[in-house]
Amino acid sequence: MKRAKSVICAGLMMLVMSACAGRTSNDSAVSTSDREEISKEAEEMTLTAMQENDRMPEQEGSKEEAVIMNELLLSVGDKRLSVEWEDNESVDALKDLAGPGMKINMAMYGGFEQVGSIGTSLPRNDSQTTTSPGDIVLYSGNQIVIFYGSNSWSYTRLGKITGLNEKELEDTFGNGDVTIGLSVGAQTATEAAQSFDLEDRSVMLNSGYKMPIMGLGTYSLDHDTCVNSVKTLLQNGGRLIDTAYMYGNEDAVGEGVRQAMEEYGIPREEIFVITKIYPSQFSDPEAAIDMALEKLDIGYIDMMLLHHPGNGDVEAYKTMERYVEKGKIRSLGLSNWYVEELTEFLPQITITPALVQNEIHPYYQEQEVVPFIQEKGIVVQCWYPLGGRGHTSELLADETIKSIAEAHGVSSAQVILRWDLQRGIVVIPGSGNSDHIKENLDLFGFELTEDEMKQISLLDRGEKHDWY
Ligand code: NAP
Repeated sequence: MKRAKSVICAGLMMLVMSACAGRTSNDSAVSTSDREEISKEAEEMTLTAMQENDRMPEQEGSKEEAVIMNELLLSVGDKRLSVEWEDNESVDALKDLAGPGMKINMAMYGGFEQVGSIGTSLPRNDSQTTTSPGDIVLYSGNQIVIFYGSNSWSYTRLGKITGLNEKELEDTFGNGDVTIGLSVGAQTATEAAQSFDLEDRSVMLNSGYKMPIMGLGTYSLDHDTCVNSVKTLLQNGGRLIDTAYMYGNEDAVGEGVRQAMEEYGIPREEIFVITKIYPSQFSDPEAAIDMALEKLDIGYIDMMLLHHPGNGDVEAYKTMERYVEKGKIRSLGLSNWYVEELTEFLPQITITPALVQNEIHPYYQEQEVVPFIQEKGIVVQCWYPLGGRGHTSELLADETIKSIAEAHGVSSAQVILRWDLQRGIVVIPGSGNSDHIKENLDLFGFELTEDEMKQISLLDRGEKHDWY
């Protein structure tokens, strides 16, 4: 299994918090003391994360405490880099060697690689390898090489730095020699949740479970269409399905999942089903969760969300927490929670949500709310990614999106979904059409440029397509 880590940026979070303080809320207001408390917590987390070569302490009582121990951490100066490590003997041996912390002096070669001796030989499994920027390899068994550029030689792959492009890698490592730090420590919830992986097509949640980053929304799909759509998704490699009590199709989702498991031999563990309980159910959350488990009939629920804020939401969430303890639900989340709602809600619960699902599309981009949520180590998922029924034709015909789509030889829908993924947002487009479902899974053969991302970001009109 691959592992990944990221850097925390609490300064940005605090900026965003103040920028977002005016966001409307159904029933809550942020007190200054709450905001100060959260900012302080974030600041403390950043300082902790940046203590290079120190094992992160097991924080007591903190919501964002370390969740994954014994990770291999890479840093340059006070900057922690996000790395996806290979699962091989060489990395295991490197971890043993690094222990609580080691420094490696790296020398720049040829303007495209940093090379440093580790002073001993590690197990190796060399093969002819063509590198790309960010690759970390073992050379001759006793040297670490980090690439800004491409080279072809016999190496053992160790991992890849993620989230930095070629220019950012160069800026991080500089043009001369540099010292890197390697240590074994804990990955915080924040770091874990930020490990959005376009290659693996998954994101590591702060609950410790991996979730696919693209899937199927089932809102408004009737029973038979829903069963068939779920099966089409699963047959074509998709593994993430979103449903809700309110959609009236949890039983159809369960049926589709069970049939696909049997017909296509897909293990249950590979499939990730999200469902939600509605505010009208908050007065008896146990009954609501039991009913969802029964209707889905797939053993456990991968993730359950509160569909909206409402009376009794804290108690309903605490009930979901108890179902996590019982192993009936694996991860928890919220839907339609924004800055003020989250700021008020989070201090009242024990398990930090792994996900927030909100309306997001090019005409309603949540440019402040998305980083606010992500900086808390919570993954963002978008509903109405294509604008929602009744709005899709206008959005898919948008001239900017169409021209970007033409440039890449893909559809407007694919451009929008890819734009979400490149923002680190999980997509669950709704569809009852098998061609669309397949198309919506095909998001990895192209990449939007920075300029194209910018062009789409300029389409934001703050235009919500639903009331919540
Ligand atoms: P959406 O995904 O923005 O749009 C769905 C519409 O897009 C359907 O009419 C679908 O038609 C069409 N479509 C899908 N793929 C297409 C493609 N490749 N090309 C052209 N058209 C395409 O809206 P949504 O389904 O309402 O939202 C997505 C999911 O988010 C929902 O299904 C639901 O799971 C979730 N959701 C959550 C909330 C919440 O409050 N938490 C609210 C709304 C929705 P076809 O059927 O013909 O493909």
